[in-house]
Amino acid sequence: MKVTVVGCTHAGTFAIKQILAEHPDAEVTVYERNDVISFLSCGIALYLGGKVADPQGLFYSSPEELQKLGANVQMNHNVLAIDPDQKTVTVEDLTNHAQTTESYDKLVMTSGSWPIVPKIPGIDSDRVKLCKNWAHAQALIEDAKEAKRITVIGAGYIGAELAEAYSTTGHDVTLIDAMARVMPKYFDADFTDVIEQDYRDHGVQLALGETVESFTDSATGLTIKTDKNSYETDLAILCIGFRPNTDLLKGKVDMAPNGAIITDDYMRSSNPDIFAAGDSAAVHYNPTHQNAYIPLATNAVRQGILVGKNLVKPTVKYMGTQSSSGLALYDRTIVSTGLTLAAAKQQGLNAEQVIVEDNYRPEFMPSTEPVLMSLVFDPDTHRILGGALMSKYDVSQSANTLSVCIQNENTIDDLAMVDMLFQPNFDRPFNYLNILAQAAQAKVAQSVNA
Ligand SMILES: Cc1cc2nc3c(=O)[nH]c(=O)nc-3n(C[C@H](O)[C@H](O)[C@H](O)COP(=O)(O)OP(=O)(O)OC[C@H]3O[C@@H](n4cnc5c(N)ncnc54)[C@H](O)[C@@H]3O)c2cc1C
Repeated sequence: MKVTVVGCTHAGTFAIKQILAEHPDAEVTVYERNDVISFLSCGIALYLGGKVADPQGLFYSSPEELQKLGANVQMNHNVLAIDPDQKTVTVEDLTNHAQTTESYDKLVMTSGSWPIVPKIPGIDSDRVKLCKNWAHAQALIEDAKEAKRITVIGAGYIGAELAEAYSTTGHDVTLIDAMARVMPKYFDADFTDVIEQDYRDHGVQLALGETVESFTDSATGLTIKTDKNSYETDLAILCIGFRPNTDLLKGKVDMAPNGAIITDDYMRSSNPDIFAAGDSAAVHYNPTHQNAYIPLATNAVRQGILVGKNLVKPTVKYMGTQSSSGLALYDRTIVSTGLTLAAAKQQGLNAEQVIVEDNYRPEFMPSTEPVLMSLVFDPDTHRILGGALMSKYDVSQSANTLSVCIQNENTIDDLAMVDMLFQPNFDRPFNYLNILAQAAQAKVAQSVNA
């Protein structure tokens, strides 16, 4: 069986390892246009902020490792065309521009995503940068040495992390977003009000509710004009989202409107010999039971493994995702899973929310910290739809607990009473998640009695 893999960061690396584990005799060839594999982009902000001593630690595999496992690894090779009828790929060797056409039995599309670059005048300025891969990370490190003023465009979680990192390295940081709040997709205003104040306290200028209209190079830097203001900067970094790298299969397999390849539960596209995983594919979003585009490494590695398990025969189903994610900004852990209240309403779901703040452990302990928590749920079925937590205490694993609840369609009643350990070092007789769900129960009871 000849297997061709297009692209090798997370989904590709995990798919190749699993394919070779399940089918040691498979002839696996991978084409990767870059010269590295398995780069953890999530480490870029940490690297820029000086928290990663050795950036080589941001790679967890190598072409040599995959070769040892039996893969034919073709680095610096760009796939130019795919012919699903002939089952061939046309590939360019980027070192000498030689082109070849090779056949496959199964094709694995792990070509990922690329940052969205809108058609804004002046956007091709050398001072406007992207943040996605290892080459970008290295360029950003070098550029930041010269730059004093850095503007991050897009206050999603990547932009939020970059703005924080640069504000701790002596740069003057401006964070621009067209939306009125930072990270509105993930957090409600009770959370983002606190986050925004943290930015201001660290000298970050917030330009929220402003849309960038143009970039103009000047003798001293770059002028960014928005619909409301004008900002002088040395460097601008675009972080306004990603689009799937799937043009090679346009019109050849079913796709979502943004180009994400639609797969079944076994990672098969509408063409049974073409599999897709990671940022090139749509995911099944459990809170809405719909397909969605949620480009996260969490999804990429899981879907990559499933390609290997299902390549010959549908065997293990994809569980879907809650889009659980988290970040550490200044001294706070900020995590979320599933839907915010606004997102649930946008999806037409019947949803209610409770927001509770409570100390994570008893006040008689030498110290404790408040935890701000949100739970979104269906008031009729009591099903949990989403949640978020923020604290100076590490509450990251609690988002994972909520994620499991959403995955398993648990209710607020399950979470209110589920057994959770109690010991004053860690929590109270009821864990703070139990308390959050009990508040949701109280809200439902109140509206029934009203
Ligand atoms: C700054 C940043 C921070 C992030 N932080 C997090 C985080 O904290 N947690 C999290 O879960 N996710 C995070 N993500 C998202 C995560 O990095 C992506 O979801 C993940 O990289 C997707 O992996 P992938 O293998 O599907 O695709 P990609 O990483 O996009 O890799 C696709 C690969 O395919 C190659 N390729 C594409 N087309 C071709 C072609 N025609 N021929 C040959 N090769 C090709 C590309 O060169 C690339 O190496 C972050 C992303 C960024 C940019």
